[in-house]
Amino acid sequence: MIVRSLPLLSLTVLIGLAPLVAKVEATESRELRFPPLSDGRLVLSVDPHTHSVFSDGHVWPTVRVWEANKDRLDAMAITEHLEYQPNRDDIPHPDRNRAFELAVKENKRGRERTDLLLISGAEITRKYAPGHVNALFIEDTNPLLTVKHRREETFATALEALKAAKAQQGFMIWNHPAWPRDFPDGVINLSQEQQSLFDEGLIQGIEVANGEYFNDSSLQVALDHDLTIIGSSDIHGLIDYDYDINGGGHRTVTLAFTNERSVEGIATALFQKQTVAVYNRQFIGRENELKTLFDSLVRFERLPARRNDSQQSAVRISNIGPIDIELEVLGDVSLNKSAGYVTVPSQSSTIILVLDHAPSDEIDLQLEWLNSWQAPKTHARLVRTL
Ligand SMILES: [Zn+2]
Ligand SMILES: [Zn+2]
Repeated sequence: MIVRSLPLLSLTVLIGLAPLVAKVEATESRELRFPPLSDGRLVLSVDPHTHSVFSDGHVWPTVRVWEANKDRLDAMAITEHLEYQPNRDDIPHPDRNRAFELAVKENKRGRERTDLLLISGAEITRKYAPGHVNALFIEDTNPLLTVKHRREETFATALEALKAAKAQQGFMIWNHPAWPRDFPDGVINLSQEQQSLFDEGLIQGIEVANGEYFNDSSLQVALDHDLTIIGSSDIHGLIDYDYDINGGGHRTVTLAFTNERSVEGIATALFQKQTVAVYNRQFIGRENELKTLFDSLVRFERLPARRNDSQQSAVRISNIGPIDIELEVLGDVSLNKSAGYVTVPSQSSTIILVLDHAPSDEIDLQLEWLNSWQAPKTHARLVRTL
């Protein structure tokens, strides 16, 4: 459990109001667990992109499972490069499902507390187009690498690999699309070839955030081409080295809105574009999903007046999620002791003092959710009438 210091402004108001402070379940700060949505659906944290020594990662697959359980991810995919095998001489493994099998074995052993779901996958690793593409939810990754033409086993073309993944009901994600090697300016110039892969349903998702990179152009492609918004760690080394976990950092993940806590439930969410990417304490998604998520994370509550003649109202804003929420209060409402920027710490609450509103007056709060992005340079906006 972590204890967070409350802003000074809140402290003065909190005195005398202690019994009203909402009790929220506290978890360790690195734990990426989210409360359910108001319609009952679950919000599962999923890392859909990881590597081990079975491609160009630096750890055995068991370590990936330990890390995921430390982060309390709901699900993680094992997605080794199929074609790029720099450790081939030391770790030859003709069966490309091996890393996933080892991860499943470790997860079942349950040495760490675990309810982690594991997703089988692979990274199809080709030049653009299509570039690097993750195929998730596939039972056997081997047919994505080679194909049998009559009696001859040959290396699959990129199109054959994608079709083999689709034949297994795979969900395909265009990884790190604005890779400098392909687009040195960070601006995606979509080729006809890539566009046709979208049209044929051979690529359904796109990483708008990969590890420490977020890219506006990728988000715009997601919106323009109706692709599922994805965030992933693409971890090769160690999570604790790549992210400032002790400083409140977290790996990049995708939140999937699902009806059930299962791999099938996550697959359905991805196919239906019911996702929000979470990157560096920022939430990236479509307007509707962001608003739905916000409703499940943040609560507003009018507090009783301290004096009968008060012309100032107190509103407590609580955040029951694992990541701080940053808000700006817009419109006609002015705050006392605040310029209008409000941080609601994770697993905690803060109190705002609204000027010129007696406790019986209605407050129309117009808010901008500053650490959310529903389009490039555009935050989600919310209204709360209290
Ligand atoms: Zn890649
Ligand atoms: Zn990768």
